Amino acid sequence: MRIFILVKEFAQSKMQKAYLFLSADFGDWFDPKTCANRSSPRPVNWFALALRRTLSPSLRGTQILYSAEEGITAYLTHPSCSMHEMGRGHPECPARLAAIQDRLIAAQLWDFLLHVDAQPATWEQLARVHDADYLDRLATLVPAQGYVHLDPDTAINPYSLNAAYHAAGAGVLAVDLVMQGRANNAFCAVRPPGHHAEHDRAMGFCIFNNIAVAARHAMEAHGIERVAIVDFDVHHGNGTEDIFCHDERVLMVSIFQHPFFPYCGDVPRGPNMLNVPMPRASTGVQFREAVTEKWLPALDAFAPQFIFISAGFDAHLEDDMSSMGLVEADYAWVTRQVRQVAKKHAQGRIVSMLEGGYDLSALGRSVAAHIKELSGL
Ligand SMILES: [Zn+2]
Repeated sequence: MRIFILVKEFAQSKMQKAYLFLSADFGDWFDPKTCANRSSPRPVNWFALALRRTLSPSLRGTQILYSAEEGITAYLTHPSCSMHEMGRGHPECPARLAAIQDRLIAAQLWDFLLHVDAQPATWEQLARVHDADYLDRLATLVPAQGYVHLDPDTAINPYSLNAAYHAAGAGVLAVDLVMQGRANNAFCAVRPPGHHAEHDRAMGFCIFNNIAVAARHAMEAHGIERVAIVDFDVHHGNGTEDIFCHDERVLMVSIFQHPFFPYCGDVPRGPNMLNVPMPRASTGVQFREAVTEKWLPALDAFAPQFIFISAGFDAHLEDDMSSMGLVEADYAWVTRQVRQVAKKHAQGRIVSMLEGGYDLSALGRSVAAHIKELSGL
């Protein structure tokens, strides 16, 4: 039985934390479910003792943070993602990432995640989904100061392109971590978001289509033959549809408020697009019905080898951006459903990437609910 363990080591001083991620084969001499139960400190302490005695003397003084049969959830972000901003009062603001981090710490989830700094995507990785001229043109538009608008909603400041490279690169690295078995699944807390960015244009706060870059990377670099993209952002992921429509290796399932920005999606652009428009004022009841009746049978029949989530939380009841009524429990529920599909068909492989979500409190709480389900904590 292979067990994954994250320990916190007080290497030199109490303040200096070093995280150590171990994977070991323990045979069948203890119950991992008992040890994975962090609300029950006793078995974990017992397990820590056994670990120190049997594995290595160098582990003395370590504190077991997390152990589970299935592995760990990676959390990828980068400081550059907070330097991109589009002007005062813009809802897609750096405070979103801070709100997520604050809430994960408050919910006591933060220390149980595998924290990884994103790396920038390469030009070649971006060019798998974006037009080469578009990529080249963007580089010439970066202002020395102030802003340049790419569309009425989307601007870049001097740091935005670097942020966009790291946002897309987070998904690429997350795929690598999952495929290498270093993480069971991953959440990328990045901005700018991506699902409105089309093959050759920025749109709706998005510059590069992060989820598409990650999905293509899984197919091109790791030989994945079938990927599913699950999009529960309140806006239709027109960019992802633009890039993957008619690509039979991809099934995209989405739910979005309609009619609403970007005012399309009601007529799918390909047979591999399962678009579910929802009228305004829909709540979790209708959302769960649609997922159960439409998404889940299609996902099961497609049997994806890797699942990507365009995780937008702007359908939340408290989010002024939309007129929908989802709450944290709905995001937890849909994450649980997707996780079950991933377990059945995809060896648990999921990479989830932040899209929308503009009410800071609701966003933080919803991401925490989402990550709690992803991690099985
Ligand atoms: Zn959105």
